[in-house]
Amino acid sequence: MLINSIEEVRRNVKEWKKEGLKIGLVPTMGALHAGHLSLIKKAKKTCDRVVVSVFVNPIQFGPSEDFDKYPRTLDADEKLCNQEGVDIVFAPSPKEMYGDAGRLSNDTLTYVCPPFFYVNKLCGKTRVGHFDGVCTVVLKLFNIVQPDCAFFGQKDAQQVIIVKKMVKDLNVPVEITQCPIVREESGLALSSRNKYLTEEGKKDALVLNKILNNIKSCYQKGITDISALKETAYSFLTDKHDLEYLEILDRNTLEEKSQADNNSIALIACRVEGVRLIDNIYLGGI
Ligand code: AMP
Repeated sequence: MLINSIEEVRRNVKEWKKEGLKIGLVPTMGALHAGHLSLIKKAKKTCDRVVVSVFVNPIQFGPSEDFDKYPRTLDADEKLCNQEGVDIVFAPSPKEMYGDAGRLSNDTLTYVCPPFFYVNKLCGKTRVGHFDGVCTVVLKLFNIVQPDCAFFGQKDAQQVIIVKKMVKDLNVPVEITQCPIVREESGLALSSRNKYLTEEGKKDALVLNKILNNIKSCYQKGITDISALKETAYSFLTDKHDLEYLEILDRNTLEEKSQADNNSIALIACRVEGVRLIDNIYLGGI
């Protein structure tokens, strides 16, 4: 069932709550692919009712980012959700979510701002304000849907760490489940933004996964020095790759260390054909 209004979602949820049903939420920006579907399948397995939100959230995009051209495929998304047995596809308009706040800013809207320690690195460094936008919309969705559980992908590792932190710090009664990264057979992590890439660009994009796999195999062979592990990336990069960051941090806290260990995560952001791609890998197993 496709629903655009907050009030209608609330009406349905109220009935489910009366019946004591367990509700799962999968927040997405649409253009659904097998990565999103893995979250939906997990939600279906563990919850009685599943809501998928499809909302390209304007406040998490910077002024020079791809908000206008972000792929919007609501009909196809709805079909996929129906095939998976999703109970509600919640696809509000920006106006439904934010009212008439004009140019959205923290002059006109209450924002949730995650702590500086978590946002002054990785994607937060170049996407200033991005995680304020993410936390704000996620908390709004939690308040609208009031799910018992919400499902996020490891693909956006910094995002799920920040959402968990928000939930803990603000005592939000939602259990966060993280799901593994779904990849194409080639190793390329699925992303709605892969649609922007040409076939050649997709091949060049494989470098992200190659760099991460190589770092993991070097770590498994006994190299733990993080600078040395990061150095191994450079032989993979060509002029087709515009590296934004490559970091090896603690996978739970995003703390920097000098030596990698089984709690380390390697994260990369790189532009290929102008498309910003991200990927990551746990060095110590899944
Ligand atoms: P998005 O629509 O890009 O905002 O993503 C919605 C959710 O799907 C987020 O929790 C993402 O981390 C997750 N997701 C996106 N791509 C993948 C993937 N390749 N594998 C697993 N989860 C993913």
